[in-house]
Amino acid sequence: MKNKTILITGGAQGIGLGCVNHFLTRGWNVTAVDIHEMKPDDRFHAVRGDTSLESTAQEAVAETLERFGRVDALINNAGISTIGEFNVDALPLEEWNRVIGINLTGYFLMAKHAAPHLRQSKGAIVNIASTRAVMSEPDSEAYAASKGGVVALSHALAISLGPDVRVNCISPGWIETREGARHSEADCRQHPAGRVGVPQDIAELAEYLISAGFVTGQNFTADGGMTRKMIYEE
Ligand code: NAD
Repeated sequence: MKNKTILITGGAQGIGLGCVNHFLTRGWNVTAVDIHEMKPDDRFHAVRGDTSLESTAQEAVAETLERFGRVDALINNAGISTIGEFNVDALPLEEWNRVIGINLTGYFLMAKHAAPHLRQSKGAIVNIASTRAVMSEPDSEAYAASKGGVVALSHALAISLGPDVRVNCISPGWIETREGARHSEADCRQHPAGRVGVPQDIAELAEYLISAGFVTGQNFTADGGMTRKMIYEE
């Protein structure tokens, strides 16, 4: 993977950090974008910024080209969750717009500014959505809508940017991002895979999708089978 370069948003923690570490281990140059500060390193460039702003996408792409000379892949991952915080009849418009701005518009902006360079490198985009694009708990309207939007944005981009650039989507289920967290037996049993997910599960699928030359426009659920299991309360 000498000289291959990937842009990852939301790289300071959680799934994004898991992807950053995975791709660095695989020999890629990595640029991560986050509102939180990150420590730059040999093959790691850190950009501090809010991905819902167009200026952040412009800076992230420009700095990546300056530092590494190319962009081969983009993982749109930066996101926020406000699930359970607002009942729909009390959800302020500003809050709705904030969630859509980061979780959906931010993905569009990064794709927009990376696209010319991904075309050149015949690269790929992976967008991180959520199983909440297709199933819900109460009081999750903005998050669910943003993730449904990401699934739709992904197939639209795949058609517009093909054949040069492939675009796929990953819908993670429950991914544990806290160090040392333990889960009840019932929580594990709820997953046909027998466990809750970890960031590495998503990083490995993203790596596969970036290299899978005949796969584009698809949404891949990575949830240990949770959305396939029927559960009846007694
Ligand atoms: P996290 O909160 O641990 O990490 C998100 C990262 O994004 C943080 O580093 C944060 O600082 C950054 N970020 C937030 N807003 C930003 C902004 N405006 N600009 C730049 N960076 C910003 O979250 P996570 O659990 O690792 O989730 C990562 C992605 O995966 C999100 O899109 C989330 O919706 C999705 N997802 C997570 C799970 C899960 O169970 N963890 C499940 C389904 C989908």
